[in-house]
Amino acid sequence: MAIKEYRDMQKRCSSCNFCKWIPFDKVKSARFAENCPAQAYYQYNGYSARGRFQLGLCLVNDELEPAGETQKVIQSCLSCGACDVACKICRYNLEPLEHNLELKREVVRAGNETAVQKNMRANLMSEHTMLAGKKKEDRDAWAEGLGLIDARKEACEALFFPGCQYAYNRPEEARKAVQVLQRAGVKVGYLFEDDACCGGRMHQMGMQEDFEAAAKANIRHFDAVSADYIVTPCGDCYHALKRRYAEQGLAKKVLHLTEVLAALIEEGRLVFTKRVEKTVTYHDPCHLGRLGEGYEPWNGKEVKIRSQIVTWEPRRPRYNGIHGVYDAPRKILEAIPGVTLVEMERIREYSFCCGAGGGCTELDPELSKWTAAERMEEAKATGASAVVTACPWCVSNLSAAESGMEVTDILTLVCEAL
Ligand code: SF4
Ligand code: SF4
Repeated sequence: MAIKEYRDMQKRCSSCNFCKWIPFDKVKSARFAENCPAQAYYQYNGYSARGRFQLGLCLVNDELEPAGETQKVIQSCLSCGACDVACKICRYNLEPLEHNLELKREVVRAGNETAVQKNMRANLMSEHTMLAGKKKEDRDAWAEGLGLIDARKEACEALFFPGCQYAYNRPEEARKAVQVLQRAGVKVGYLFEDDACCGGRMHQMGMQEDFEAAAKANIRHFDAVSADYIVTPCGDCYHALKRRYAEQGLAKKVLHLTEVLAALIEEGRLVFTKRVEKTVTYHDPCHLGRLGEGYEPWNGKEVKIRSQIVTWEPRRPRYNGIHGVYDAPRKILEAIPGVTLVEMERIREYSFCCGAGGGCTELDPELSKWTAAERMEEAKATGASAVVTACPWCVSNLSAAESGMEVTDILTLVCEAL
């Protein structure tokens, strides 16, 4: 959809400002009531979803170019979706996140990508990863000696999709994830040399063509595999595969590692034998939580009642975050003997981003760092000794905040308790 097609939606924004806050009935303190990191950091309306609709309208009316300061504002969006769920509390006819992403695509269409984006594209094309400096031939080193089924040749129960972060930066955790599944009797397969980046970051940064090329290549490999489901330990990959690949035609079931582990615990196939005496708080990753909802195919049209009230025929799917993955990680934590879970003020679909979304770690590093520090302040306020999360991007960005508080992957706690 080109930005021009958003004109009616841009005009429909009522400037109510709901997109800047978590819902008022969920607010526990003024300190942690804001939901949009970009707006909260810059304290200027242009950075909110409301401001982005105004900015988009200016682009459509040729009053602005997607360059310079305008580009900086556009690319400061973490694509975290907090504005989207907040807007949809009382509005049904706006898609703030899709609009924010379209603005980013406008930057790319205008040929104004940053050097970071160009390097990512080059790396994705030559090395099949968006991580700078990583090589294709090193991608499957983490999998050595694990007895993984070669999913290209044999059927398996779970096709393991590690994602770039686990494959290159967290190989030990990738190994642990597979070993935990194998311990519970799951037949785990892998694509070996055919495993590649999901391209999800490209999508979040407006590089739609690059994302679609990566998605199509991966879907070809997935389609050729006989597996009951694809499982990934990464929140970003989960969103890419479950929602965005499904839009591109992927029909296979996609699960996050926490969903599989929670089911294995419930079935009695994974039993904890050790105590982990720890009070923890859980950070909901945006792309696993509110953006982790499955794609629902829809082929309808916009119609107006009495030429005024916008509606859709047939009824349009509503992505407002409520069906994201929230319970599975909490069930795992509750099942670990000795662990006490205390919640932050902004949780589930109203969680506050870790600062790593939308490519902001590279495009707006100051905003990214500030966002992580804010989230860690909220975590500290719970009195917990550690923040647990279920996405390697969140682990890495929250750790970089150097708050003095432990940040850990849920998988580490699971392994400690087995
Ligand atoms: S984007 Fe939605 S929540 Fe934000 S000002 Fe516009 S209508 Fe209100
Ligand atoms: S997606 Fe996140 S960072 Fe971007 S405007 Fe919405 S709340 Fe702000």
